[in-house]
Amino acid sequence: MSHALFKPGAAPTSPLPVPKESVREGRKNQLYNEIRDTRRNVEINVGKACNNRCVFCIDGLPKREDRSYMPYEEMRRELAFWYESGTRSVGFLGGEPTTYPKIVDSVAYAKELGFTRIAIATNAVKLRLPHFTDAIVEAGLTRATISMHGHTPALEDEITRVPKVFAKKVEALRLLVDKRDQGLLKDGLSVNPVINGLNYKYMPQILRFFFDEIGLDDVRFNFMRPEGYSEGNPELSPRFKQAVPYLVKCIILMEKHWTNKTFTFGGWPLCTLPPSLRDSEVLLKKYMGEYRDLSTDCSVRQDGEVFGIEEVGDGRARFNWQDRKRFDLKHAPDACKECTKVALCEGVWKGYIDIWGDSEIKAI
Ligand code: SF4
Repeated sequence: MSHALFKPGAAPTSPLPVPKESVREGRKNQLYNEIRDTRRNVEINVGKACNNRCVFCIDGLPKREDRSYMPYEEMRRELAFWYESGTRSVGFLGGEPTTYPKIVDSVAYAKELGFTRIAIATNAVKLRLPHFTDAIVEAGLTRATISMHGHTPALEDEITRVPKVFAKKVEALRLLVDKRDQGLLKDGLSVNPVINGLNYKYMPQILRFFFDEIGLDDVRFNFMRPEGYSEGNPELSPRFKQAVPYLVKCIILMEKHWTNKTFTFGGWPLCTLPPSLRDSEVLLKKYMGEYRDLSTDCSVRQDGEVFGIEEVGDGRARFNWQDRKRFDLKHAPDACKECTKVALCEGVWKGYIDIWGDSEIKAI
């Protein structure tokens, strides 16, 4: 990482104290929300190889060793480690976890251990193959979150830089919707478009496509994190003030038309949102993803250089995701020190500050 704000050893800028307890003990760092799933969650990164090349990918072009997959014995050890620490939800991610040769075995082993929520974060390309989708669901998968960022072939193919990928993802989504409708995937099926410079103007159309044409009932818009391929690129990273009007339109549509569906957003500093939204606890609990996310730890291959709050053991870097964002990946400009929302708001992606500065950030 070459951002000015990613200097080795740089102190966190958040006004809140850095937590001292180990990730093994779990964090109590989330706000109360009646509708949150309270299971502790761990996301295990299987390796950074991927069959898409999304323009905003935070991994960019991973180092050769990072593209190699996690040995299966290490996966089994890691699953046991987290299960013993009290975690009951696990998510597999990459890179692209469906290309991991042992992914079905890993899901099956997680189920055997006793994990009750077993999820995968995937671009879904491989899930268009019925034999593969059948196998992973039968092994115990209970949730899939799909990385898809456009509502048209032209947009999706441009963002992923893979020709004809839109049609493959739509095929996969139809198979998965069918599984969900059979009562499988009991923890849900969602799509998580990353909001970037190419798609932000189409947010309402993207929502309509996934709800009305595909039949999904859960969509999450995450504001992009300008790192990797998109580092320093103002064309790929819209300003908050450009994207917020489209976000607001989505919320109005939700309140009027899709009242039985779930829509959340993530990564928006609260002060960039209109007062009618940021000052409403009811609306924030309903639409702000950070209010609803599971308490999540992460396990990633450790490459020798310890970064920020992570703990290192067994060749893995382990850290709490909510803390990682607040203390290592986001920046709290001076305005945050005076802000009444600082316990709720994580600040701003450092990569965003590098591109656009902090002039939009104002204490509330
Ligand atoms: S001033 Fe800082 S803490 Fe307050 S809402 Fe803005 S980014 Fe969040």
